[in-house]
Amino acid sequence: MLDQSIQYLKGIGPKRAQLLKQEMGIETIEDLLYFLPRKYIDRSNTKLIKDCFVNDYVTVAGVIKEVKISGHRRKFLEVVIDDGSDTLSGVFFGGIQYFLKLFEVGDMVLFSGKVDYYNTKQIAHPEYDFIGDSSDALHTGRIVPIYPSTETLKTHGFNSRVFRKIIHNALEITKQHIQEPFDSEMVYRLKLMPLSQAIQQIHFPATMDEAHQARVRLAFNELFFLQYYLHLSRQYIKETQKHSKPVINESLYNHFIHTLPFALTDDQKKAVQEIINDLNADFPMNRLLQGDVGSGKTVVAMIASMAVVSRGQQVAFMAPTEILAQQHYTTFKKFVPESIHVQLLTGSTPAVHRKAILSGLKEGSVNILIGTHALIQESVQFANLGFIIIDEQHRFGVNQRASLRTKGYMPDLLVMTATPIPRSLSLTLYGDLDISIIKQKPANRIPITTLAFPVSKIDAVYRSLEKYMDEGRQVYYVLPLIEDSEKLDLKSATATYEQLVERFPTKKIALLHGKLPNDEKEKIMQEFNNHTIDLLVSTTVIEVGIDVANASIIVIEHAERFGLSQLHQLRGRVGRGEHKSFCVLMYPDDISQESMHRIHILTSTDDGFVIAEEDLKMRGAGEFIGTRQHGQGIAFEFADPINDFELIKISREEAQKQVERLKDIPALFENIKRTHAMNILEGLRKKHILALLS
Ligand code: ADP
Ligand code: MG
Repeated sequence: MLDQSIQYLKGIGPKRAQLLKQEMGIETIEDLLYFLPRKYIDRSNTKLIKDCFVNDYVTVAGVIKEVKISGHRRKFLEVVIDDGSDTLSGVFFGGIQYFLKLFEVGDMVLFSGKVDYYNTKQIAHPEYDFIGDSSDALHTGRIVPIYPSTETLKTHGFNSRVFRKIIHNALEITKQHIQEPFDSEMVYRLKLMPLSQAIQQIHFPATMDEAHQARVRLAFNELFFLQYYLHLSRQYIKETQKHSKPVINESLYNHFIHTLPFALTDDQKKAVQEIINDLNADFPMNRLLQGDVGSGKTVVAMIASMAVVSRGQQVAFMAPTEILAQQHYTTFKKFVPESIHVQLLTGSTPAVHRKAILSGLKEGSVNILIGTHALIQESVQFANLGFIIIDEQHRFGVNQRASLRTKGYMPDLLVMTATPIPRSLSLTLYGDLDISIIKQKPANRIPITTLAFPVSKIDAVYRSLEKYMDEGRQVYYVLPLIEDSEKLDLKSATATYEQLVERFPTKKIALLHGKLPNDEKEKIMQEFNNHTIDLLVSTTVIEVGIDVANASIIVIEHAERFGLSQLHQLRGRVGRGEHKSFCVLMYPDDISQESMHRIHILTSTDDGFVIAEEDLKMRGAGEFIGTRQHGQGIAFEFADPINDFELIKISREEAQKQVERLKDIPALFENIKRTHAMNILEGLRKKHILALLS
């Protein structure tokens, strides 16, 4: 029933069916039932025009008296309605021709929005709806759904009114066919609105609260089946990629841990243990290691590498930039015993070296290979690749990760990220990975002091810089732009560089930005690293990458231009050594309150996860979801990854329970695995729910 074409519904013939498919992807009755109102007009808030006052948010209903183009320099369309008490104009500045055709004198319409007064009462760009014959209860019920539409649909007369009619019809004849996918115990226990009721009330709620409850139920479905899919896919990998791995020599990596010049933090110990457990398991590891900058992830990766080398396998460690790869290489060389052969391979490795490295890899004499994208190349072949580490994994595409994996036989995979992702999001985005988190900073860290000043105080900041540089410290100085821009009134790195050179004539100052050739960048970094440079003016290219213990101050101008998580990353460039460190955020004197609030978050906490949550609240999930690249992003229709945290947690637990009950996971998974998670979500909702749970 639900999977029948909409063309057999009353009011829809083949033509309209074709149009809905093409414009909205609506093919079946079920598609139509899941076609959501964009918003509701709450007609219980309907007012008489005479009772509307400036700045009120209101809904008014009236008959169109006049449709006219007004204005002198700037033309606009004015749609005057009359409800018997007074008149009010709906005013449209854009799409004049379109609206001119849409509104006809004599139509009954609803306008909703904020009341203004210019010669007459008006609402600019009101939400509108046609209500037709006022005896029609469907359209004058207290809460009226408004559906999304397209130009083409509108020109064919598809407005919300039409949608309401056909959806109402569809519900009438199919209501009893909407099956509840969950057993009644679960529905009752979780206090879910039954599915058929939710679908009904998402379209025709009696109150806004009903609409809300209906959304919650549909969001639960969405989250549940996503989690269900993710659990299933994890189980699938565990069961179908079962294989025995060579045995780790525990005393070897334990001995290595003891040779480190510091004790591991508890979080590092826990992460190491989780990773070792996965390495010993009979399925490939798929683990995400999350931790703030400087929390000691690389050290954990190094210990895991030692364990893998101890069982006779090779390790590939891929980083997104040469600078990072170089740094990891240096770290490994510093700690790993000489008997273990570590190599670095990047785009700028000279041909002779490259050749030697490649043959060493192939015959197995190179144990650990660190590098950039260069590792993915065809010519890079391993004798026995057992472990892959990917740093800042969101900077690589799925395909890049996959092609590295094919270089070994079911290798273990550890991906790392220093971008703290709020837990609610990581549960949804990374549900297919096991997660280890390092929250603690190493004990020897001196906390970074973060200060914020308006730019008018810059002289005082300069004096401090001078003092600290005189004491032998180094400084990062970050700006949002490379060059002055006519459009944006922002200080650029280039202009600032010139100023600073003048201000500190005895100090060595350099300019670093993304447009410099690679070898030039490398050279500058090297010089900063060995303290030939005192002050490094830079754009955000230093965001990931440098670890210079003697750099103890970072100044960030136009801090209001950066995201919170980005500022936090930048701040992590200092506080890496024995010296007291400072992060100085500069902002314009006329900064807005909201921007000031953002900056205060940074001065008040150094917990990357707290900052990420705040960032998420302020900027929305797109920022984070965007980091999950190449078609793996998940767009929710009903769920809200920020505010539905509880729901995400519950759906995850329930999905896990359900998966545990299943017997033949591989067969089940084969059925659905061809599509991406997003399609799966779609597919599950529409077609597979019952099949999966039966
Ligand atoms: P991340 O990769 O998470 O940014 P790193 O592993 O590079 O962090 O560690 C940052 C710095 O802290 C490195 O210089 C490292 O040697 C040092 N370090 C790591 N773990 C500890 C620890 N437990 N105690 C003291 N120093 C540590
Ligand atoms: Mg690191």
